[in-house]
Amino acid sequence: MRMSKLYMPTLREVPSEAEIPSHKLLLRAGMMRKLVSGVYSYLPLGYRVIRKIEDIVREEMDNAGSQELLMSAIQPKELWEASKRWENFGPEMFKLMDRNSREFCLGPTHEEYFTSLIKDEVKSYKQLPLNLYQIQTKYRDEKRPRFGLIRSREFIMKDAYSFDKDEEGMRNSYREMWEAYEKIFTRLKLKYKVVQGDSGAMGGSNSHEFMAMSDIGESLVAYCDSCDYAATDEKAKVIYNIKQSDEEMKDIEKVYTPETKTIDELVDFFNIEKSNFGKALIYKASGEPVVIIVPGDRELNETKLCNYLKVPEHELEMADEETIIQITGANKGFTGPIGLIGDVRVLVDSRITKMKNLIVGGNKTDYHFKNVSYGRDFTGEVVEDLLLVEKGDICPKCGKPLNMDRGIEVGNIFQLGTKYSDSLNANYLDENGKEKPIVMGSYGVGVSRSMSAIVEQYHDDDGIIWPLVVAPYHVIITVVNMKNEEQSGLGEKIYKELSDKGLEVLIDDRKERAGVKFNDRDLIGIPIRVTVGKKASENIVEYSIREKDEKIEISTDEIMDKIREEFERQGMRI
Ligand code: ATP
Ligand code: MG
Repeated sequence: MRMSKLYMPTLREVPSEAEIPSHKLLLRAGMMRKLVSGVYSYLPLGYRVIRKIEDIVREEMDNAGSQELLMSAIQPKELWEASKRWENFGPEMFKLMDRNSREFCLGPTHEEYFTSLIKDEVKSYKQLPLNLYQIQTKYRDEKRPRFGLIRSREFIMKDAYSFDKDEEGMRNSYREMWEAYEKIFTRLKLKYKVVQGDSGAMGGSNSHEFMAMSDIGESLVAYCDSCDYAATDEKAKVIYNIKQSDEEMKDIEKVYTPETKTIDELVDFFNIEKSNFGKALIYKASGEPVVIIVPGDRELNETKLCNYLKVPEHELEMADEETIIQITGANKGFTGPIGLIGDVRVLVDSRITKMKNLIVGGNKTDYHFKNVSYGRDFTGEVVEDLLLVEKGDICPKCGKPLNMDRGIEVGNIFQLGTKYSDSLNANYLDENGKEKPIVMGSYGVGVSRSMSAIVEQYHDDDGIIWPLVVAPYHVIITVVNMKNEEQSGLGEKIYKELSDKGLEVLIDDRKERAGVKFNDRDLIGIPIRVTVGKKASENIVEYSIREKDEKIEISTDEIMDKIREEFERQGMRI
């Protein structure tokens, strides 16, 4: 491809909303453009990367025995009503209506649609297992679209669905998809971790997330360096070290604590550690207030709360000031479990039940209670674990301290069980003619998000450093001075030779200053670079790799050997 003809509208300035490197660089390099918030077009260079990612995903899915098809993005409301997700998906779903007032959505995912597709055709155990996938555009009206392709409202996903006779079959399919994903993300050169995930709105029992590790990642991963335990912060089980369990119960006291609202202010006031407090939080779940008590030194895990209450995340919110006053009779900052007004639901993290002599809010402005113990002074619904994991917590598997890092979720695998086959009546007849529900799994890869994740892991101050497998082109030839016929002639000759060898080659034949060409070359991140300059008459060019600093002069006969070397180094062949 000639850069004089290439549609590559690079930008000097990027919009201030672009906060992270991949968002800035993909815009600056003219690889994508924003239409409206969270909606992007992929321009020629960017789209080549997308297609390469898709090809890798496709190859590995095909190798794992999954079959590709393509479904519609538009789905009728009735499908989603059957699984109760028309409501549960909430405001994230893009909804629309046809001219006859029939309601539809733009598919945010396709569990219902795939289940309904196969249910009339797959009737016998002989047709199972079955695994189908598509690479398709998905729509989610995200609350906070940001970070470019990482959290967008229209994005490309590979979604696959497995259909099995029983749990064991489902676990097999799950294992096969897991292995396929490991191959995909390894080939994409992503540094990733596989972590236990929360199944959330998807339903089902077991799930894992593939996390591309990155400081800008929106997900927090707790992992153990001593064993293989790893889980998202939403999922990670918290083992909490209870300190006060052996104490004697003391008499409860009401203490005047003027203007002392936050945990830090209370720590100063009582001159005692955070772990001696019982922290009360008030939420509204589907509009109903609920009080949650957790140890004062820990944060509440909202995902665990939603799972326990069986409410979708979008129906959970912190209570407003008015609700707090209604329930406690006090201003914000003095909420506690004793003397709440009316019949309000109180959830207690199980650790609280073993702690003694806690300090809690007095449900009266400017007052707290001291020496409070569960059972004697208050009760509630005990929930085993409502806490958010922290760095240094004990690994639930081996007992060593946990580490925490950020990650970008690029893939997700779910064991769905029979959630969708039950609600959509997808049954089959087993060997004995008995009707049974099909057991399902679902498996997603964020194709467009992966492109950003790769850029996050492979860039420097000057631009993108594409790994060869996904690079829009393998080689870039920069002709320093197009007016010099020796240079342009040699550039053209190399361009033809390399292209004839099957390489994907860009030639910078623009009549731009050398500095502009070099800057653009760094920005768009083509891995292998040949510069044709002053020594063109001697058939000598400069050769360099985007990833490395060093430049060497080589004769034109050596170019192919050098390129082969680089292909090999990156685990590829030509
Ligand atoms: P997240 O927790 O990041 O919102 P999710 O759990 O909602 O992700 P899934 O429903 O499992 O995501 O979708 C499968 C894959 O699609 C994800 O692993 C991710 O790579 C990608 N994906 C999900 N939402 C978006 C989005 N808004 N923009 C880009 N890619 C996305
Ligand atoms: Mg989501």
